[in-house]
Amino acid sequence: MTPIETLQSWLGEAQCAVFFGGAGVSTESGIPDFRSVDGLYNQQYAYPPEEIISRSFFDADPAEFYRFYRDKMLYLDAQPNAAHRKLAQLEQAGKLSAVITQNIDGLHQAAGSREVLELHGSVHRNRCTRCGKSFDAAYMKAGEGLPLCDACGGLIKPDVTLYEEVPDQDTMARAVSYIRRADLLIVGGTSLVVYPAAGLLRYYSGSRLVLINLGETPYDSTADLVIHGKIGEAFSKIEV
Ligand code: NAD
Repeated sequence: MTPIETLQSWLGEAQCAVFFGGAGVSTESGIPDFRSVDGLYNQQYAYPPEEIISRSFFDADPAEFYRFYRDKMLYLDAQPNAAHRKLAQLEQAGKLSAVITQNIDGLHQAAGSREVLELHGSVHRNRCTRCGKSFDAAYMKAGEGLPLCDACGGLIKPDVTLYEEVPDQDTMARAVSYIRRADLLIVGGTSLVVYPAAGLLRYYSGSRLVLINLGETPYDSTADLVIHGKIGEAFSKIEV
């Protein structure tokens, strides 16, 4: 059996499959990841991206934070790719219980997935730090300089987990619960080096851990099936 045929047969037998993904799931939608050769970490900016998108940088220099954020993190025209679409179809067919994602782009929901656990928040939720008024991503993308609340003038902050911030604990607990109950865990498009998200894998006790990634990850040797390649291409071969 080819690796794709094995994945297809495991999906057919699974009662409680879960998908856990990262930035690599959206690169085929035109959103760069952080660590690939042409990813965000390799692009030129005055500071390294991991420094700019940290909480202390946001507090110290919000104008520079927002220049980077608008330029490199808001891809509002991006559309779901074959991986997002197939995962949504698998859920609708009752074959997948949840998508757990480190992504902040909202593309799983755009593809039709319902149970999406966003470990690092979403660019689509933004709140005034003073009065709490909500704003959409288009409001954040428009204009230059600081995004200010049109009601009170306060600074707006995206509901995105910055470096030095703790991921939402309720979402984390729900992700742990899904992974504990999973009989098939498909992990894709993530370098598995950002904690605590990458640590979620240790809660999986089943015998069908599938990794789909362009390159190697620290978990390749412990996985039961490894597919090295583009995740959109891999999922486009799966039949629902
Ligand atoms: P990462 O950038 O660390 O790693 C991405 C991984 O995906 C790499 O190992 C790369 O080889 C692989 N990859 C790239 N394209 C692929 C493809 N088409 N098919 C299969 N694999 C592919 O990503 P990460 O581990 O998710 O990093 C964590 C942080 O980056 C997260 O906190 C996330 O919030 C943030 N991030 C999010 C987005 C987004 O929302 N789309 C984009 C960039 C970064």
